[in-house]
Amino acid sequence: MTALLERYDAVVCDLDGVVYRGTDAVPHAVETLSALSAPVVYATNNASRTPGAVASHLRELGLRLGSADVVTSSQAAAWLLHEHGVSEGGIVLAVGGEGVTVALSEAGFRAVRRPEPGTGAPVAVVQGYGRDVSAADLAEVAYAVADGATWVASNTDLTLPTERGTAPGNGALVAAVAEAVGRGPDLVAGKPEPPLYALAAHRLSTDTARVLAVGDRLVTDVLGARRAGTDSLLVLTGVDDLDAVLAAPADHRPTLLAPDLRWLCEDPAAGEPSLEELAAAVRRAHEARDAGEDESAARLGEEAHRLLDRLADR
Ligand SMILES: [Mg+2]
Repeated sequence: MTALLERYDAVVCDLDGVVYRGTDAVPHAVETLSALSAPVVYATNNASRTPGAVASHLRELGLRLGSADVVTSSQAAAWLLHEHGVSEGGIVLAVGGEGVTVALSEAGFRAVRRPEPGTGAPVAVVQGYGRDVSAADLAEVAYAVADGATWVASNTDLTLPTERGTAPGNGALVAAVAEAVGRGPDLVAGKPEPPLYALAAHRLSTDTARVLAVGDRLVTDVLGARRAGTDSLLVLTGVDDLDAVLAAPADHRPTLLAPDLRWLCEDPAAGEPSLEELAAAVRRAHEARDAGEDESAARLGEEAHRLLDRLADR
């Protein structure tokens, strides 16, 4: 028996909808992740929390890890600045929560919330989510961008789920600045753009092609994995379900899908039915849909649903 994970060097794991939902752990997640022999890096588009704060939340759920096991889109944004030639010590306007400022400072940049008189204009802006980001902060982004600063968005998620409902996410705040300056950001660090996965693979001392990306959302985790050249496992414990997978355009289709994280430790070719049988059924439904054979696609989709039900009961 060869567990799914043995095909890869490591796992890059999403958090919300995979490890936790709100404050609670997703069933089976902590036990499975604790038992893995392969290294895991947790990659989050959330730019406002520091890796230390994320790691401490995960430890409260029962995982054993440190802040080096977490990569955030703020860190990926700072990494992108290095890649694009912004030198250490460069003044970078930091808009967002503590995670943005800390990531920039740790990467050697001089993070400022407002341009300081006499120190020169910011060479770059990193814009991430923060509960306290104000209209004045967004105005500073617009002024810096108009002055030629490189504009990096930590992520462009339009919405942010909260306990009280759906709030505007960083993408909505980035769009507000884009309206003012007449264009979008120069670079985006988080999923579905590749830098966060690239940084995670770098942290794991391997290549994006050698890791398995695990996530719950097609438009971020799976599309991002595809763009990074990474295989993906969609777990059905979060946002997207099998119907979403069946309706997905080609670049949003995961390599494999599973009811939950426990399948990381299973042989994808073994069992009745197997994970690979489910993936093959989904593939046939996609092929029928791509060929415009809607009736056939619907029938094959129902077959995939039956396989998923049996798989979940195994
Ligand atoms: Mg998620």
